Amino acid sequence: MRFASFTCDGQARIGVVEGEEVALLPLALGDLRDVIAGGDAALQAVAAAQRGGKLPRLALDRLRLLPPLQRLRRDVLCVGWNYWDHFDEGKGKREGQDVPRPQAPTFFTKSPDTVIGPRDDIAFDARISAKWDYEAELALVIGTDGRSIRADSAMRHVWGYCLANDVSQRDLQRRHGGQWLKGKSIDGTMPLGPFLVTADELDPESVRLQCLVNGELMQDASVAQMAFPIPELIAELSFGMTLQAGDLVITGTPAGVGNAREPQVFLRAGDTVTVRGTGLGQLVNRLVDTDLYHQSSVPAMTGNDTGGAHAGNL
Ligand code: MG
Repeated sequence: MRFASFTCDGQARIGVVEGEEVALLPLALGDLRDVIAGGDAALQAVAAAQRGGKLPRLALDRLRLLPPLQRLRRDVLCVGWNYWDHFDEGKGKREGQDVPRPQAPTFFTKSPDTVIGPRDDIAFDARISAKWDYEAELALVIGTDGRSIRADSAMRHVWGYCLANDVSQRDLQRRHGGQWLKGKSIDGTMPLGPFLVTADELDPESVRLQCLVNGELMQDASVAQMAFPIPELIAELSFGMTLQAGDLVITGTPAGVGNAREPQVFLRAGDTVTVRGTGLGQLVNRLVDTDLYHQSSVPAMTGNDTGGAHAGNL
């Protein structure tokens, strides 16, 4: 099944996508986090509601889609450097923070307040960063709790998949001790969706991921190129640490990010970023000037050292 979250009569609702329509599910089923936590019984209730044939149908293209998950119980769990061509393209461009090729997955987290809908504007403020970058990623949602999950049973813990754009601020990523949290956690900057596709409907290795900036193809790769495939990611991430139903994991981005280009390409207000994935639809988001700086005592980022170019200059 393919689930969507959206607003209907001013209320957040969920539905099942059927072609160009969405079957509106009863309020009693709650949101998608409730459906995920409800396990097989909740999915059976959804299927029964569909079979009843009385669910209102809404035109998909007239809905304001919300991120599939709006309530996360903790930070978004993230994987870095999970495509070797992306790891290699960044060599010499990490401002003294280069490391040897990792032997195990690289993990970090980002704030849940980054999450926005699949068509929402990305909050942009040039004073917060001079190095705004895009990252097309496959996201997965955990469906069954587990700790120290074995790789050979890990796929049973995946509830479904969607797309994410892990918009990053490269200068903030480097500025704070080489830890990535800060440069990955600016409010209202991570589009998620457009749908949550249940794991039985998608072979993640068949997904081709693409990212376009203002219509120009910047990233184009197969998820099968992952350095550490999903079962290994789940085994390592859950090692001694419980993953819970509803946890969101973003699985890394392939080559082609703006920071690694010659010349570098950084996003600015007015740019439109599209992230596509086979069987998953697309995220289309515009960067819009937003006051994220307020009266901060931290000096605005200037970018004097970036030598950056805008996508339109390529
Ligand atoms: Mg990323």
